[in-house]
Amino acid sequence: MTNRSRLNGCVPVDYHVHCHISPDSQATMAAMCQSALDQGISEIVFTDHFDRACFDTYQPDKYFEELDAVRRAFGPQGLTVRAGVELGEMHRYADVVQPVLDAWPYDFVLCGVHWIADYCVHDMDYFRAHPPEETIPAYFAELASTARAGGFDVLSHADVFKRTAYDVYGRFDITEWEDLVRPVWQACIDNNIGIEINSSGLRKPVGQPHPSLEAVRWYREMGGERLTIGSDSHRPVHVGAGLDTALDIARAAGFTRLCSFEKRQLVRWIEI
Ligand SMILES: [Zn+2]
Ligand SMILES: [Zn+2]
Repeated sequence: MTNRSRLNGCVPVDYHVHCHISPDSQATMAAMCQSALDQGISEIVFTDHFDRACFDTYQPDKYFEELDAVRRAFGPQGLTVRAGVELGEMHRYADVVQPVLDAWPYDFVLCGVHWIADYCVHDMDYFRAHPPEETIPAYFAELASTARAGGFDVLSHADVFKRTAYDVYGRFDITEWEDLVRPVWQACIDNNIGIEINSSGLRKPVGQPHPSLEAVRWYREMGGERLTIGSDSHRPVHVGAGLDTALDIARAAGFTRLCSFEKRQLVRWIEI
């Protein structure tokens, strides 16, 4: 069913894809594009990391050189390739990040929270050393600060810490943290920032997307309209993975369309 719905073109886009420009991927852009094309996906965005873990090594010139090449190769075959980037905690690093955003022709800017103080959200030791009553409010406070400061288009993987925290705490239920999530959504709505349904958590033991259905529903009820879906794939085999489920969640939360971005503007609505 999953494969058939993809082949029928039911997954139109993947708005969160990494390649070897990110330190945690070895994939070429061409291999990721070929995987998208094979599945009938018509639009992808390379959102390679540019955050505190790779400020010194990020090379926008290399990124755009390879992007231009895949646009020439895959554009005529029906695949639109957008230029993107994934930032972290932009409210702390705008002085480093903004000049790069101004200098290069990005279509789409994701920003998430990957660090809580000096702990990476994927560091199991952080969750082993601290209880959920401490780590989860700290994460959402940082996420709210990021959303309030703005300067990007979509907030990535809004509860991504659960991917690692789940392995330590053994459970995660977003409804217990509603009071912490809603202020994040309000800041996004106030700043015209969208949210994404990120399917990468479906490939982990936690077995949930980022964020879960309930949280997507709160955002919609509060008036949030801007939504993207992304696999957060770092390998060709994961391009588009779980996005049929992300679409089901979007519809269940009351969404009928996704956003398409070009040159940092919402240029088109994609019916789902
Ligand atoms: Zn991320
Ligand atoms: Zn990512």
